Order: sequence, then C-alpha cells, then structure tokens
Amino acid sequence: MHEQLQQLAHVAAETEDGKPFQLAANISSVKELEQAIRNAASGVGLFRTEFLYMDRHNFPQEEEQFAVYKEVAERMEGKRVVIRTLDIGGDKHLDYLELPEEENPSLGYRAIRISLDRIDLFKTQLRAILRASHYGNIQIMYPMISSLDELRRANEILAEAKRELAADGIPFREKLEVGIMIELPAAVMIAELLAQEVDFFSIGTNDLVQYILAVDRMNETVAHLYDPFHPAVLRMLRMTVEGARRYGKHISVCGELAGDIRALPIWIALGVTELSMSVQSILRVKNSVLQSRYNDGDHIWSELSRCPSSQHVMDVLNRYIQVDL
Ligand code: PEP
Ligand code: MG
Repeated sequence: MHEQLQQLAHVAAETEDGKPFQLAANISSVKELEQAIRNAASGVGLFRTEFLYMDRHNFPQEEEQFAVYKEVAERMEGKRVVIRTLDIGGDKHLDYLELPEEENPSLGYRAIRISLDRIDLFKTQLRAILRASHYGNIQIMYPMISSLDELRRANEILAEAKRELAADGIPFREKLEVGIMIELPAAVMIAELLAQEVDFFSIGTNDLVQYILAVDRMNETVAHLYDPFHPAVLRMLRMTVEGARRYGKHISVCGELAGDIRALPIWIALGVTELSMSVQSILRVKNSVLQSRYNDGDHIWSELSRCPSSQHVMDVLNRYIQVDL
C-alpha cells in the first residue's frame, strides 16, 4: 500500500474528469521539506514559523531567520511558499517570552495580537521574509486576523520594513503576495471586506472549528464536540469562499481537514482546488482526488447544504468519498 501510494508522487493531481488540484505541504522545519519534495508537494501552503522560535533561549535574529526562509524558497524552486508570521500563545509557548497567565489562552494574547504589540519582533521577521523573497516564490500570511484594522496595521509594518530594506539597497520582491488565515468566525463574517485588501485567504480549519463551536481544541473533556462536519462549519466555509470569489482572490485550506479524505467532497462542492496538509497526507489525498469527479460539485453542495446535522453530512460524504487504490 505504502509503495503503491509512493508511485503517485509521479502522477499529476487531477480529478477523473480532469480538474487539476494543488496539493501543498504544511511544514514546520526544513527537515520536513525533504518529505514534502519526495511526495511532490505543489508548494508549501503553510510554513509554521513558530517552531524556529521554540526550544531555545532567545529570539532568532533576522540573519538566522533569513537563512531558513531562503533555503525553503530555493529548495522549492519557484513553487509557492507561504510563510505564516509568528503564531504563538494559545497552545504554543516560548520559554524566554513571558506571557500573561490567562484563564482562556485561546481567546487571549496570541498570534497577530502579539506581533502587533511587539513590533520589534514582528518587523525582524518581516524583514527576514522579505529578504528571502528575492530567492523564490515567497508569500506572507498573517494568522488570527479578526478585523480590517489588524490587517491594515500589519500591512503598515510590512510597508515600513520594505522602506527600510529599499533605503539600504537590500533586494526583495516588491510585489510579493500577502494573505491571511481565515480562522475566526469574525473573519468569515467580513470575508468580503477582507478579500478586497488581501491577495489570498487560507482557511485554518483547526482554529475555525474551535471558535465556531466554542470547543477548545486542546480540551479532552469536550473533544467529542469538536466536529468539523457540523453544518455551521460548512456554512462558514461557503461564506468564506464566496467572499474571496467576489473579488477574484485565491483561496486554499490549510487546517487538518484539508488532509482528511472524508472532507474532499466538501472542497469539490465548494470548488476549492488548493489544499495544504501534513506531508504524510499528500499522496493519500491525491489518490482520492484521482478517483473523484469535479463535476459532481454542484450536486454535492445541494445535498450538503440541506443537511441538518453532522451525521447527515457524513452520510452524504460517505457516498462520495473515494479511497480505493
Ligand atoms: C489552523 O488553525 O487550522 C491552522 C492551520 O493553524 P494552527 O493549526 O497552526 O493553529
Ligand atoms: Mg490556527
């Protein structure tokens, strides 16, 4: 089975009726890049940079970050590499950054909220990413965006970093794309406003499901309520896709659900053909893509949109899931 799947690395990812899919990798380190390349990932859809900051005693400096981002960009040889700015807090901690004690860390001081508060850290990272953009197809993505103000503030700091580099004659890609994670219900509800000011959306289903359902993704006691197939989740996914489409913006999915073959009919129903997932999932998802029919999309959505519960959603999905090798 493993060998048969590995053969698929050499096969183009397209549905039985010829619709191409981009199956990209979520990575946290340069080491994981090896496997992404071996599994013929179409790019890196999510580089979780927080792991550069973990298991050490101080913040990584600009040079060190630049070297890592540059290596990833070069090794992907022009394929898209989406670098997400620091997403700590919540379930991820740094020994050397004291965070406040919080009753509810997932609803607290994390991700872009920290970056917009600690502009020194944020700008160091942005400068490193910008410099690396000269060596490949790098794009920037902000996590946990909840409002237009946050997006604009982050972009102001990015513009400052660009001005500084330009003044020093340091090369970077002036037109690099900037996108956001859609992982808060607030972002879904204003998707069409956000879409006017970004180049792309990437849906982070891990956090999005947690926040839609008010189920802490780290809390075992309520783990049975963490349900990505809840009709509320489907509706929010649909709104996000519609918001992006209205302004012709690129949309992908990078939460765990992207690598779950049970969810593939949902992406087909929504017309989302770009998925980024853990490297181990790429070939299994490709196997299902090859056996699916993109033209079933409208029909699948008309069934899904009427489902009153996740059990009904699963019943519909079960009729479309393709797993044969
Ligand atoms: C997500 O929330 O879906 C996501 C991809 O980000 P992370 O899992 O790193 O929070
Ligand atoms: Mg997230």
